[in-house]
Amino acid sequence: MNEVSREKFVGNICVGDKLNLLPHRLLQLGQNKIAVISENNSGWCVTDIDNYAHIKEFFSQQEIIFDESLGNKKISLINSLWDFNLLEKNGTHLGKIIQPFTPVLLVLKITGNCNFNCSYCYDYSENRVSKTISIDKVKETILFILLKNRGMNLVFHGGEPLLHFSLIKEIVEFAAEAATNKKHINFLIQTNGSMFNKEIITFLDKYNFGVGLSLDGMSETTNAHRTVKSGASCLEIFNKNIKEYGDFLRRRSGVVCTLSKRNLEDFPNFTLWLQDLGFRGVTLSPLSIAGKGINVINDLVSPEEYIKLLTILINMVKSKKIHISVDSINKFVSSLVQLRPSDLCHANPCGAGDNFLLIDATGNYRTCDCFYHDYFLLDNNDINLALDKRSKILDRVEHMKNHDCSNCAIFGFCGGGCTSEAIARNGIDKTIPELSCKVKKFFYELLLKEFAFDKERPLFAYYARCSKSRDPRVKPEDDTQERARG
Ligand code: SF4
Ligand code: SF4
Ligand code: SF4
Repeated sequence: MNEVSREKFVGNICVGDKLNLLPHRLLQLGQNKIAVISENNSGWCVTDIDNYAHIKEFFSQQEIIFDESLGNKKISLINSLWDFNLLEKNGTHLGKIIQPFTPVLLVLKITGNCNFNCSYCYDYSENRVSKTISIDKVKETILFILLKNRGMNLVFHGGEPLLHFSLIKEIVEFAAEAATNKKHINFLIQTNGSMFNKEIITFLDKYNFGVGLSLDGMSETTNAHRTVKSGASCLEIFNKNIKEYGDFLRRRSGVVCTLSKRNLEDFPNFTLWLQDLGFRGVTLSPLSIAGKGINVINDLVSPEEYIKLLTILINMVKSKKIHISVDSINKFVSSLVQLRPSDLCHANPCGAGDNFLLIDATGNYRTCDCFYHDYFLLDNNDINLALDKRSKILDRVEHMKNHDCSNCAIFGFCGGGCTSEAIARNGIDKTIPELSCKVKKFFYELLLKEFAFDKERPLFAYYARCSKSRDPRVKPEDDTQERARG
């Protein structure tokens, strides 16, 4: 059996424990290998078909009560299945046990206003453009989350959040002071970079901000959607920032690129350009039909075009041309390697309304901001209620499991895909979101096959290298290289 040895941090199996194999689905990988994938979480392992048959038989006989007389071979199997998150012990499993420790991601939509006028802006709405977030609500929410959790990721978003730098300062200083008793806050900001000055850069550096910098390419053509209200060019702004704050940006920022037909072909070269500039990461975000995106529908990339681009990037990673982190690749590897995916869109159910919460510029709590729809609106006054109210998301997952996704082997990784995309594209939540569905099928099958058959495991190794270079707290060798035993 190929084993996935995740961190061994929780609960050994003890004598008398009642054990059950969790519901799971199978993905045929070829050459007698299958991936066994938990139906309701991201547990998985790769094994031989014959070995799987033995496991099935063992667990189908009767309820298994753990006892040392089971023998070393069976005990080792049981421990492995527990580590893979494929086993239930006394009604719980590993994924459930570690869940409460996930930091909450609180996104603050500081303003609906922006000094850019991007033709695809998913966030734009006439209702929000003149609004600024309520500081009292932000403070109340931060205190509530810190009280209930070990830590949080606080993301400043917009519109352009740095139009209100003094507000950001006030929130950061408040949060940093509130985070006593070993609570930890990571600060992040998504910005177009146009408001940077020495004071802002010094402040962001002081509080160890992670910065997402928006740019769509290395030419004016590829940035054609990103117009600036003052008439300046967003590329010129970017180049000026590199010149003046290059050291800070290389250390702290990654580039976020909205993918459309305008920059699809150029993206591999853009990645190499960012790599030469010294950036550590780039994230691809396909243009969506939310907000103003509805007006540029002809520039949407199809799932097939996106997968073709990903294939080119993967080949560049394998041939070691790319060493910068393409986060849109690494997030998939990460969701296999980590027991509970750290990327909230890769969890099942996704993080919307659970460990992901946002306050929009008009003061509403929302479970997700990728598409402004009442579906994602939460009770607006009571934070106690807000964090519990995602029953619609959970209902959808259950529905998708038994209907449109009933035959999909990777349901445990996916949970029925992105609800926001489903509503934006199809108008209904309980439908397949075509883009995320096709991309997930492509990626997970590719990665599981690489895991099963390619000794070098180039994409797992790439993830390990990138994680190491970006976050010294991560020990990637523990995560991947030791994952295959037997
Ligand atoms: S920079 Fe961002 S918030 Fe501003 S218009 Fe462009 S997409 Fe919208
Ligand atoms: S609804 Fe979609 S975009 Fe929102 S958190 Fe879930 S997967 Fe992510
Ligand atoms: S949305 Fe697609 S990939 Fe996800 S579980 Fe359903 S069928 Fe599978």
